[in-house]
Amino acid sequence: MSVGRLLQNWLTWQTSSEFDLDFWIERSWNFVWYGKCEECKQGNTGGDGWCNACNAKRFQQNFKNWTSGNDDIDKFIQDIQLSAKEYYKVLEWIPYDKFYNIEYITKVGFNKIYKAKCKWIDGFITEWDNKNQKWKRWGNMDVALKIFNDSDVTLEFINEVTLHHKVSDSIIGFYGITQDPETKSYIMVLDYAENGNLRNYLNKNFDKLNWKDKIGNLLNIAIGLNEIHVNELIHRNLHSGNILHNKHYACIDDMRLCKPAVYNESENTKVYGVLPYTAPEILQGQNHTKAADIYSFGIIMYEVISGLSPYHDISHNEILVLKICKGLRPRFNIKVPQLIDHLIKKCLDADPLKRPTALEVKMILFQFQLDDELKRLEETELKTTN
Ligand SMILES: [Zn+2]
Repeated sequence: MSVGRLLQNWLTWQTSSEFDLDFWIERSWNFVWYGKCEECKQGNTGGDGWCNACNAKRFQQNFKNWTSGNDDIDKFIQDIQLSAKEYYKVLEWIPYDKFYNIEYITKVGFNKIYKAKCKWIDGFITEWDNKNQKWKRWGNMDVALKIFNDSDVTLEFINEVTLHHKVSDSIIGFYGITQDPETKSYIMVLDYAENGNLRNYLNKNFDKLNWKDKIGNLLNIAIGLNEIHVNELIHRNLHSGNILHNKHYACIDDMRLCKPAVYNESENTKVYGVLPYTAPEILQGQNHTKAADIYSFGIIMYEVISGLSPYHDISHNEILVLKICKGLRPRFNIKVPQLIDHLIKKCLDADPLKRPTALEVKMILFQFQLDDELKRLEETELKTTN
């Protein structure tokens, strides 16, 4: 066959309906980036030799050996195991006896949800050990248990685990599901945030934080928020109490109130959130939008940069609500770079349409970190606000 004919065949094939260009680009890219799977000789789908096809087979063979006792939860975990393209995308059904030293920490929100800290004997799956024909694991580690202490919460539980997994790349790590054999409560097994929530972290560490730390933390929260918005979801309750800080960075937690962007809020399901973080239009009864999440993020930026809780020196009452609706915003008593000051002002604009998107916020913070801006900061580009 001539070269011309070959080329023509190839062109016909690649424009036909059978040809999936994205699939081939992804395959070739995986091959170059992650190397070849020793078993099936195809490109790995993730780092550390993770091959989706081969590992899915292993998970599938094990389906008969475990059950959560709830078909929906079984199906949810199975689907995730079959589709995991990276080790950190895997979720497992974890027997409760793999946890020890369980200490209760706190109650979450108004529902019967509790958090506990404990040790997980095995730790998460990292890769397949071909020699010993079993999973290699991280080993003994601290984890947080989020306990849904009400037998009626199955629907709410599935909603939260689904949302959490969907955006799991940049919010707090999620390893699997377990059940307390006595109370029958379903439990999410999550990364343990050593530094507690963002507010605790700022209280303890603010004096030690430099600009790089502050912007790094904000960037990570912005990445998480962008991931939530890209998935057409709205967080609806972003504040420093439900952003967690692990050893290295801040990340969004608590997806309970997170809802699809098209969600129709009724009076009963309306969320008012924590006053200082709530956008003026929400205080005036409008529905949540992505822009209202951006407003909350603007307040968090103020908090991380100043170290102070927003409106820490005034009472949080109806007068404050009125003042916020009339344009009151937190003010800095320190010098802030103009770019950051401008970004916060845009996030806190009274007009939701004038606020930036999560992607824009992310890109601005990212650029700010890349540029020598941070280095020059302390010397030149300072500006006194207010
Ligand atoms: Zn393979």
